[in-house]
Amino acid sequence: MQYLPVFLDLKTGPVLLVGAGELAHAKLRVLLAAGARISWFSTDGAHDLGGLRDPDKQIEFASGDPLEAELAGAIAVFCAGAGDVGVAMALRAKALGLPVNVMDDLAQSTFIFPAIVDRGDVVVAIGTGGASPVVARRMRETIEAVLPARIGDLATFIGEFRRTINARIGEMPLRRRFWERVVDGPIGALVLSGRKAEAEAALHGIGDPAAYAGADEAGRGQGHVTLVGAGPGDPDLLTIKALRALQDADVVYYDELVTPEILDRIRRDAARVPVGRRIGKPGIGQAAVNKLLIEAARAGKRAVRLKGGDAYVFGRGGEEVDALRAAGVSYTIVPGITAGLGAAAHFEVPLTFREKARRITFLTAHKTRDAEAVDWSALTDTEMTVVVYMGMTAAPSVCAGLLAAGRSPETPVGVFAKVTRPDAQAAVGTLGQLPDLIRKIDGGPAILIIGDVVAHSAPWRQQNLSRVIAHILEPA
Ligand code: SAH
Repeated sequence: MQYLPVFLDLKTGPVLLVGAGELAHAKLRVLLAAGARISWFSTDGAHDLGGLRDPDKQIEFASGDPLEAELAGAIAVFCAGAGDVGVAMALRAKALGLPVNVMDDLAQSTFIFPAIVDRGDVVVAIGTGGASPVVARRMRETIEAVLPARIGDLATFIGEFRRTINARIGEMPLRRRFWERVVDGPIGALVLSGRKAEAEAALHGIGDPAAYAGADEAGRGQGHVTLVGAGPGDPDLLTIKALRALQDADVVYYDELVTPEILDRIRRDAARVPVGRRIGKPGIGQAAVNKLLIEAARAGKRAVRLKGGDAYVFGRGGEEVDALRAAGVSYTIVPGITAGLGAAAHFEVPLTFREKARRITFLTAHKTRDAEAVDWSALTDTEMTVVVYMGMTAAPSVCAGLLAAGRSPETPVGVFAKVTRPDAQAAVGTLGQLPDLIRKIDGGPAILIIGDVVAHSAPWRQQNLSRVIAHILEPA
């Protein structure tokens, strides 16, 4: 370790900043955020704040030669964009034993700046001993992505209750266990999802904090279920929240649509339980899935229910949440990119288009009898894009239903299979050709999109289909 990371309280005395321009502005920004009182010696004499705001008057525009400035009482010296003056200033500071940083000059500095992730009370400092700011920045991006946005709120929340709880739990290990249960359990989850009032109510609702802390010898919090939408297949389309839930999980119950690449993102030690249908085999059934989720939560586990696309779009999310609510199990829902949106982006089908497509309907037609039950007459509006889930088998009935209701056989249609995956396929043509288009695809899952907007899609344009012919496109 080249440098010791410490967190400095800059509110205890003035700091000196010497320099000008962009570099000085960058330092001012971070010093302001840290609540510092700053004497700023501008080396170009301009004292231009470059758009920075200083509502609390933290900055004093110092005049005169910084090399003559009074340094008694100052707690640190910063030089940024100060040229030779910075070097001379550093010598002065060092002679007085004052900590000094000269930007981009390790030799003159007695301390250096880390890359900073700032989430209020939670601050992460990343250093590379000055070797590579670029590496530090890349690490910062990674940490920014995995840290919950409200992690600072969680720290503040705990800070507010610390004294009360400390007074009620004398024993240190028990106290630590209490906070672990709060952070890892439903109360922490509530704060992280922005439901602070509910979290406060839950904390107040704990009658006996010591008993709450001691209840589970493993020190684990009460269980929780997270319903996570995995998106249509590309693991990079997981949301940051989804990724975090997969990394936190003790057990993951997943559907057949979830791809192996997404399963790879699950924490290595978590149990993985397939609960969906397999080819030729039925799934374990909704009631059994509900039971598994409830049992896992009651055993204190962090369970993830991982579904293709989004849980609330033909994903039985509603049924599962009803069951969790009825069982009094705490849960959160993380949305995913639904297959229809995945198809739209992958094959460039704008689902809405100014003055051409003003409405979208998402429907499912799994079996022929489902398709027969659809009121197709409600879907003949030419300004409506129709997105059909699970529509491969019933495609002939979808086609017949729409034609019988009066939608034109020339309406552009696309069959989009395994969208966002490397083996994605598309077949585009007209509504009249739909049953043939299905046969051109090597199996699902596939989504059907019906409407004039399909003529804007990549496969259609690439083949210049003005007079429509069935066409299959396999992206490289
Ligand atoms: N909850 C899921 C839908 C589940 S229903 C979601 O929001 O996407 C299953 C249907 O979704 C499949 O029959 C198919 O129509 C569609 N689907 C799921 N993944 C798909 C993919 N990668 N490509 C095309 N269609 C897909």
